[in-house]
Amino acid sequence: MLDETFTPHGKHLIAGNWVAGEQTFASEPATGDAFDFSVGTPDLVDQACQAAEDAFWTYGYASRETRAAFLDKIADEIEARGPQITWIGSAETGLPAARLEGERGRTTGQLRLFASHIRSGEFLDRRHDAALPDRQPLPRPELFMMQRPIGPVAVFGASNFPLAFSTAGGDTAAALAAGCPVIVKGHSAHPGTGEIVAEAIHAAIKACGMPAGVFSLIQGGKRDVGTALVQHPLIKAVGFTGSLGGGRALFDLCAARPEPIPFFGELGSVNPMFVLPNAASSRGTDIGTGWAGSLTMGAGQFCTNPGIAVVQTGAEGDAFVSAAAEALKGVQTQCMLTDGIAQAYKDGKTRFDGRNAVKPVLVTDSEGRNASPNLYETDAENYLQDHALGEEVFGPLGLVVRVSGPEEMETLARGFEGQLTATMHMDEGDTDLARRLLPVLERKAGRVLVNGFPTGVEVADTMVHGGPYPASTNFGATSVGTLAIRRFLRPVCYQNLPASILPDDLA
Ligand code: NAP
Repeated sequence: MLDETFTPHGKHLIAGNWVAGEQTFASEPATGDAFDFSVGTPDLVDQACQAAEDAFWTYGYASRETRAAFLDKIADEIEARGPQITWIGSAETGLPAARLEGERGRTTGQLRLFASHIRSGEFLDRRHDAALPDRQPLPRPELFMMQRPIGPVAVFGASNFPLAFSTAGGDTAAALAAGCPVIVKGHSAHPGTGEIVAEAIHAAIKACGMPAGVFSLIQGGKRDVGTALVQHPLIKAVGFTGSLGGGRALFDLCAARPEPIPFFGELGSVNPMFVLPNAASSRGTDIGTGWAGSLTMGAGQFCTNPGIAVVQTGAEGDAFVSAAAEALKGVQTQCMLTDGIAQAYKDGKTRFDGRNAVKPVLVTDSEGRNASPNLYETDAENYLQDHALGEEVFGPLGLVVRVSGPEEMETLARGFEGQLTATMHMDEGDTDLARRLLPVLERKAGRVLVNGFPTGVEVADTMVHGGPYPASTNFGATSVGTLAIRRFLRPVCYQNLPASILPDDLA
């Protein structure tokens, strides 16, 4: 029978070789034994980048079918290690096995979706302008255009999705699909999970005969690894999922390079949810209960967590708040991803406790690495004056903002910063107000939804997971769904090229 545990060796994967470092750091698992991992260095970053650049000259020009078969094989290799991935992932992050199994399915599904997406060729956006030799006053040459891969890409995975937003997650899948070699900076919250997924990619590289430098994993341990990676001259773009502070620091480094490069940072968000008056009066209690469920899912550690609910003052709004508080009272404490994230959650709650204009509705004490829900209430005027109330608290903390009526709801909507999502709960009688809010919300968020909850992001052609700053550093992009491939492509125009040298995809 297959061993369902996994003992990491703690090495980096640099261009096909497992390499041990001189220093080590210990993992901080939620359960079970800690393991030692090699600390990354700028020298290893350089080796990985040189190998990625070498690999680009073959991988970036390989056929779409070759790349698609490679992505499919990575998915197969991840599935072949399924039980061990769940075991180490659950031990490291404290996430339950069922959640990690679901996330594994999403990860392999993403890889296979990108494989079929590049097989179809649509992403190339091929265009052709025929030659007009007789045009006056000047003839027009024949023009072709298509999207080409940009070169080696650096990926920083997230702590809260150790599979779907990490080593072989959406950024890696999109970059490999585009034709870009990838260097992953492993997340220190789940180094063993990163290692076993890198083993799966390594096996796929060997099975498919890919160049060794097409993928490297460098474990962290020190901040200089991430810094060296985004500053390396051979890196052409960065995919990042994480905090506003970390993302902004790395974004600034990318912009300050002699050759600035795009930094696609998917950051935090408070994902406001507007309960419109008719919906509040007909089903405020149900919406409040549903909100509590969404707010506490995965200990609230989702970037799409709807941390702020906006509802009118008066009896209907009161029913919404009471139902949410009642449901939150019944939620058990949950283990958080790291000690640092648990501490940040407590600090975020303290920030709310210290504000006079914020009324506690349900206040709990979280102990150690565990988090229990908290709920607060304030009014629109105070929210708009106190910038700190709009900052994400990563965890199961909700803030209700009470508004006097539709006018104030609209004013509040205009006051929000960029968001990943914005939600409206509405009934038929709310249509006029919803029509007024929609143009405001679509300027604020990458995804606008009605009568649902934003946790749960479909991996699909139409998905947009991004938004105006600070939700992301690049509002023209998404990190989920097939459109994510566009981040790692750039258009090239081919003017007057003879058919004999046109790239295969244009011939
Ligand atoms: P994080 O602390 O920013 O870490 C993300 C990665 O960046 C890690 O590899 C970390 O290295 C590295 N890093 C952070 N600051 C750095 C710096 N100054 N220099 C070099 N490297 C740096 O974020 P997290 O704790 O993993 O994730 C929680 C946050 O992510 C939440 O705010 C959540 O909302 C957000 N998030 C967003 C999305 C989205 O799609 N928008 C999805 C999930 C999570 P170490 O490993 O060494 O710490």
